[in-house]
Amino acid sequence: MTDTSIFPVPEAFASDAWVDAASYQRLYDQSISDPEAFWAEQGKRIDWIRPYTQVKDCSFSGDVHIRWFHDGTLNVSANCIDRHLATRADQTAILWEGDSPAEHRHISYAELHANVCRLANVLKKHGVQKGDRVTIYMPMIPETAFAMLACARIGAIHSVVFGGFSPDSLKDRIQDCDSRIVLTADEGLRGGRKVPLKANVDQALKSCPDVGTVIVVRRTGGQVAWEDGRDFWYHEEVSAVSPDCPPEEIGAEDPLFILYTSGSTGKPKGVLHTSGGYLVYASMTHQYVFDYHDGDIYWCTADVGWVTGHSYIVYGPLANGATTLMFEGIPNYPDSSRFWQVVDKHKVNIFYTAPTAIRALMREGEGPVKRTSRNSLRLLGSVGEPINPEAWLWYHTVVGEGRCPIVDTWWQTETGGILISPLPGAIPTKPGSATLPFFGVRPVVVDNEGHHLEGATEGNLCIADSWPGQMRTVFGDHERFVQTYFSTFPGKYFTGDGCRRDDDGYYWITGRVDDVINVSGHRMGTAEIESALVAHPKVAEAAVVGYPHDLKGQGIYAYVTLVDGEEPTEPLRKELVQWVRKEIGPIASPDLIQFAPGLPKTRSGKIMRRILRKIAANEHEALGDTSTLADPTVVTELVENRQNRV
Ligand code: ATP
Ligand code: MG
Repeated sequence: MTDTSIFPVPEAFASDAWVDAASYQRLYDQSISDPEAFWAEQGKRIDWIRPYTQVKDCSFSGDVHIRWFHDGTLNVSANCIDRHLATRADQTAILWEGDSPAEHRHISYAELHANVCRLANVLKKHGVQKGDRVTIYMPMIPETAFAMLACARIGAIHSVVFGGFSPDSLKDRIQDCDSRIVLTADEGLRGGRKVPLKANVDQALKSCPDVGTVIVVRRTGGQVAWEDGRDFWYHEEVSAVSPDCPPEEIGAEDPLFILYTSGSTGKPKGVLHTSGGYLVYASMTHQYVFDYHDGDIYWCTADVGWVTGHSYIVYGPLANGATTLMFEGIPNYPDSSRFWQVVDKHKVNIFYTAPTAIRALMREGEGPVKRTSRNSLRLLGSVGEPINPEAWLWYHTVVGEGRCPIVDTWWQTETGGILISPLPGAIPTKPGSATLPFFGVRPVVVDNEGHHLEGATEGNLCIADSWPGQMRTVFGDHERFVQTYFSTFPGKYFTGDGCRRDDDGYYWITGRVDDVINVSGHRMGTAEIESALVAHPKVAEAAVVGYPHDLKGQGIYAYVTLVDGEEPTEPLRKELVQWVRKEIGPIASPDLIQFAPGLPKTRSGKIMRRILRKIAANEHEALGDTSTLADPTVVTELVENRQNRV
């Protein structure tokens, strides 16, 4: 349907880019033919206290282990702060834009240094030692980045829990990693609404008796309950300690953080990342995928509670000495022009967001975008889900005025950094394709029996060999790590995602393999049918799942959200079936379409097809874990109006 459109690299972009087509090919080939030599060289992009002599020690079978640069030592926070002080002490490190357009802050590298050192000293004062877990449950404010870097400075392991999670989800994550200290704020602020963070912590801690210390940032000044001896104000604590804290010497393979996956497919896993390889990979991908140059204003709209925030708001950009914009608010507050107003206000050059945000803004039409200039934009990025070609084209033509390349970056919490993405100066793009692998990444496509599929094909996406940013284990459960990622296709890392590879070797992520539908023996990714539906002018969003069907094995069940103002009618239902038939073919035409005012999404905005599958199968009594849903009430509506009543 979409393979025909190719967007060449704009000439002006290629001439200034870090990597052009020829150097991409040369470096990629080198990274695959001699990974040891390639990474031995690339590892030097960060500062080591004791340089490594060992580069790669990894096995995906037998005794599964992953180690990179393992005899080297470093400090991640010194790499993100101290090493820039000689040349950019006064440059803005964190450019914070508040929920209200009236609020912003510039934090220079010198200020970042002082803030991080003070907080590191506070942690030490409260008994936090190397290897201890620190839970960070905070809003999108600079203090959250200070907290992560303060942990890194003393070798404590942070576990950031997204501020939108409930007390129950927070409790699970505190208990799972056994952390004894929690950093939070009185309240968060999103879209003009207050989020009761401290109250949620109080609730969670009723079941976490081992937590002895809570440090609270005053963000809104709202009333909070207080437990003397346990709760401490951040501003009082940091003002009582020294602004100097020498960075600890940390082993390359010492843990940097634990992060729980977003839970789209089931119980979240405590993904563990370590220090050296992670930082090399995060900083390198940030530089090349976003073609980051000195002086660029770079904005990733993710929450720091997700891996995207870890690697591409905090660690990657700061390791590169960048100015990273951190946004407290949401795309449609005070109005749906906000993203573009912020772009104009701070002259943002590189903008990185998620398809769910793009689709939501697309629903509002071009008006809110066109009211702004966006002249500063040079590059656009997407992450989190397959981006349907319709949304890609809107992003490209309306937001980027046809001028900015789009990098559709495929990766996972587990991968630490981007694995498949265009390098914007090197790789022509195709709407909906994540294109080609990053240096050192060896994607392989296998059938269900694990046989390698060559050339243009479709199947399960695996990675054949390790890269430095790869997760090392599931915290406290190495067996689960081995089982989850290395047992389905022995000897390979299994991503859980399906993909198609076209004649140009481009990868098209078709969604999670669990989501593949098998209709009368034809295997179909749900992403393609969803893209076809969303391409209809009256459709804003769609989610497609399979359900048991007597004749076909599986039938196609589509949940469709209409554009604002469109009425759900029988004729429209028929029209949509015909539309998909015409776009893809009769085999893909939906058997049932349910009009859905809202879809169940994780807090990071991903559609939870697991729940939709249950409703489609008429098994709505057993929906499983719904605790990571952003809005559990949409489920009730979907169950009430389900189509498959047997
Ligand atoms: P869980 O593993 O708990 O189910 P999750 O997979 O949603 O949660 P993440 O690690 O945040 O948690 O998401 C990674 C997944 O997101 C990928 O496996 C893929 O399915 C999807 N994804 C991310 N970026 C892209 C992209 N550019 N194109 C297609 N899919 C993407
Ligand atoms: Mg996953």
